[in-house]
Amino acid sequence: MTDKPYFTFGNYLKQRFGGRVQKISIDAGFTCPNIDGTKGVGGCTYCNNEGFSYNSRVALRPVREQIEAGIAFSKKRFKANQFLAYFQAHTNTFAPVNQLKKIYDEILPYEEIVAFAVGTRPDSISPKILDLLESYSNRFEVWVEYGLQSSHNHTLARVNRCDTYERFLWAIDVTSTRNLKICVHVILGLPGETHEDMMKTAERLAPLPFHSIKVHLLHIMKDTPMEKEYLRGEIQIFSMDEYVETVCDFLERIPSDISVQRLTADAPPSVLVAPAWCLERKTIYQKIDQEFVRRGTRQGSRVSDNVRQDLSWKHQARRQAPFPIAEAARLAS
Ligand code: SF4
Repeated sequence: MTDKPYFTFGNYLKQRFGGRVQKISIDAGFTCPNIDGTKGVGGCTYCNNEGFSYNSRVALRPVREQIEAGIAFSKKRFKANQFLAYFQAHTNTFAPVNQLKKIYDEILPYEEIVAFAVGTRPDSISPKILDLLESYSNRFEVWVEYGLQSSHNHTLARVNRCDTYERFLWAIDVTSTRNLKICVHVILGLPGETHEDMMKTAERLAPLPFHSIKVHLLHIMKDTPMEKEYLRGEIQIFSMDEYVETVCDFLERIPSDISVQRLTADAPPSVLVAPAWCLERKTIYQKIDQEFVRRGTRQGSRVSDNVRQDLSWKHQARRQAPFPIAEAARLAS
């Protein structure tokens, strides 16, 4: 099925759609509740959000123009003829439902788009927004991408995430009962996290009803609070070898049916402070493959059989995420 020691998202898309599906990234001009004061100000300490710390943003180009340019480019460069529209920039559910509908409807005229994804925060979703997203699922495969980053609230507080693991569990719970796919974002190497903390996050994720994961390595960007901490020597970052070992340890704890969309960071060189090696994407992926070969393991090697087989995903997820129904109802209102 796959020549990689982990289940790549590319392979998933080939199995699902019978061929290559190319992602088109869209900046629809959303802002973020952790910047505009709704949840917090200043944003996560690693986020380079200069230039959008206002109550609203406008897309640099109309969404349709971005879609058409993305499709034309990918057809020429990759000979792709199926596309996934990815509403990527900032928090892509952070607007009134009628406004979201107008934005998402922009993809409707394009028959080549077979799937779409929205990147968001667990605190920026509601049953009404999920209803809207699900309403597209008879035409597209619809993905909700949740930024978790860490399952430890002390870490989330340390990086001013202004969100919690409990809220993430609630979001997973209410999303997983719908015809929607879920992708989870995790950052390895956040300040104050031990190796054990990161492995705990993988172990907590393992039984949950999600479908895909993006693993980012902590990288320091210019003009962020974290840059100042880093320059003061208050933050340690991974060497490439340390990261490769950690990400392999992490993936060994993630079930093998979860597709892997990313294992590095995508930092534009103009804003990257450190580590410089995170620009060597090809080398990082090669080293991860080599490390798995050296160990004789692969994604899911350390997941015990009963994590996903003894009970259905959702039943088990609810068992492991005992989130009070009354609290869920309060958050949903
Ligand atoms: S949630 Fe995302 S966009 Fe918002 S501050 Fe954090 S990293 Fe930046």
